Amino acid sequence: MNLKPRFLLLTGLLIVASATAAWYASRQLAENIVAQWAIRYAEKQVLYDKSRLLQPIVREIALSRQFANSQEIRNWARDPEDPALTRRALAEMENYRLTFSDRSYFVALRDSGRYYHNNAKNEFAGKPYRYTLSPKKPEDRWFYDIIRQQRDIHINVNPDANLGVTKLWIDVLVRDGDAILGVAGTGLDLTELIHAVVDQTQPGMTSLFVDHNGAIQAHRDQRLIDFASISKTAHERKTLDLLFERPQDREAIYAAMKELESVKSTVISRFVEIEGRRHLAGVAYLPEIDWYEITLLDLNVLVPLSSFSGILLVYGLTLLAALALFNLVLSRLVLRPLKNLELAMREAEQGQHGDVFPPTQGKGEISLLIEHFRRMARAQWEARRDLESKVNERTEALDRLAKTDPLTELLNRRGMSERIEAEISRSRREHSRIGLLLVDIDLFKEINDQHGHGKGDEALKAVASLIHAMLRPYDSVARWGGDEFLVLTQASDAHDLDAQGERIRAAIAETCHIAGAAGSALPLTISVGGYFANNGEDIESMLQHADKALYMAKDAGRNCYRAYGEVRSSAT
Ligand code: GH3
Ligand code: MG
Repeated sequence: MNLKPRFLLLTGLLIVASATAAWYASRQLAENIVAQWAIRYAEKQVLYDKSRLLQPIVREIALSRQFANSQEIRNWARDPEDPALTRRALAEMENYRLTFSDRSYFVALRDSGRYYHNNAKNEFAGKPYRYTLSPKKPEDRWFYDIIRQQRDIHINVNPDANLGVTKLWIDVLVRDGDAILGVAGTGLDLTELIHAVVDQTQPGMTSLFVDHNGAIQAHRDQRLIDFASISKTAHERKTLDLLFERPQDREAIYAAMKELESVKSTVISRFVEIEGRRHLAGVAYLPEIDWYEITLLDLNVLVPLSSFSGILLVYGLTLLAALALFNLVLSRLVLRPLKNLELAMREAEQGQHGDVFPPTQGKGEISLLIEHFRRMARAQWEARRDLESKVNERTEALDRLAKTDPLTELLNRRGMSERIEAEISRSRREHSRIGLLLVDIDLFKEINDQHGHGKGDEALKAVASLIHAMLRPYDSVARWGGDEFLVLTQASDAHDLDAQGERIRAAIAETCHIAGAAGSALPLTISVGGYFANNGEDIESMLQHADKALYMAKDAGRNCYRAYGEVRSSAT
């Protein structure tokens, strides 16, 4: 992967990670705010509900207590067969009936199990005895349970499925000192009150009431209500367990209920999960009826995720803007200079020219890097250029050496052969002819033999230098081998060649000598064979003919010039 996508990916990941962290942090913050708000809301709700729900209940409870404590009732309960006491008690019952907001009462006597009751319609005026309770009948169990538990007051919710009403029964023990004479009380139609509390809630909000065991006493969903709680065993009850799937949530709520009883603080709130959704449960204690009100706030409804969409959008746009900016800065400061550097390096690699790097701008690390590369490439290019010119020089020198005779510094056989070949090509193009003069020092062996090889070399050099000095600008001479020299001339014709051969021979004979022993001068002579080649003739044939001419000169007694080929009018 290239640098750019890698950097962009990395930046993207970093931004997403920080945005996610920020998102969770802000959500947490929002939830905390909501939680604070929800707690306050729950507190207000409880106070409001108390005033609405408890006021009538509290009033009825107070009245029921008075009713159960009434001297007339207690006197009669002690002696129910007494007609006078019975009359007074019945009058008292009727008085209370009219005072109770439900316009109904009940009195049940412990010993006889007799149950007295009159209702709002005054159906049982004057004959309130209804029936006798029996410990064997399940529907009468509440009575015996209350007496057994010796709870002075008991409040029981009992909806009447037939009438479609929810009755709150306030049961108060009728006591005579420690002795329990019976149970008296009234009913209270809670239907409307409960509806007002549990039904009229806003979306995402559920209010319910539970008793001290956690049995649900009032809930929007009638199926969850634990009717006749007192007469049920623990496992029969419809409790909070039905609401919370997670054991830790149930424990938290029960713990909050316990805490509220002792601490008496107004509201305790806990986060719980209901049907897989986060809720805030606000729990409040209503000591007057020993119930708890629980308000459940569905945080997903109250603080929907969509309310964060604005923040999400801002995050998204920020991410895009940051990526675009980063891309721009990265391209400007790093990638573009690096690209240029790479291109320049490639050019430098191919050795195109010395100034492959554009002058750097700015003072960043990349610019410094480019500057270093620029200097390095320049130095490298110069070094290579110097090296190349040196190599060329050396190659030329070597080439020259390979074609030069070290002793006489004339062309050697190889150098001369190349030159003759070139001359042959030229002569073929221009239809001109080539002249060759083959020169051999006479009796050279004798010089070597009599005066030593050093003298022989001296003689070779002397002859070479004289021939070289006599050459015309376009002619050349080579040491052809041993004591032989070959002259390549631009002779215009055979006569010109002959004259040149003769001139060289004469010059050597007249002026060339070396110093012998005891200051004597040793004269040198040469024999010269000339050949004016035909156009198109090859080198081998030319050399053979020149050699033949030289042989002729030697044969003629040396120190003379002989030509091979066409007969000249004035040959020597
Ligand atoms: P001729 O007149 O027939 O040419 O007689 P010559 O003695 O010159 O015989 P030839 O040309 O055959 O002898 C060539 C001699 O040149 C033989 C060899 O010893 C000698 N020679 C060849 N190369 C060198 C050299 O580099 N230095 C010296 N001192 N002698 C050389
Ligand atoms: Mg010789």
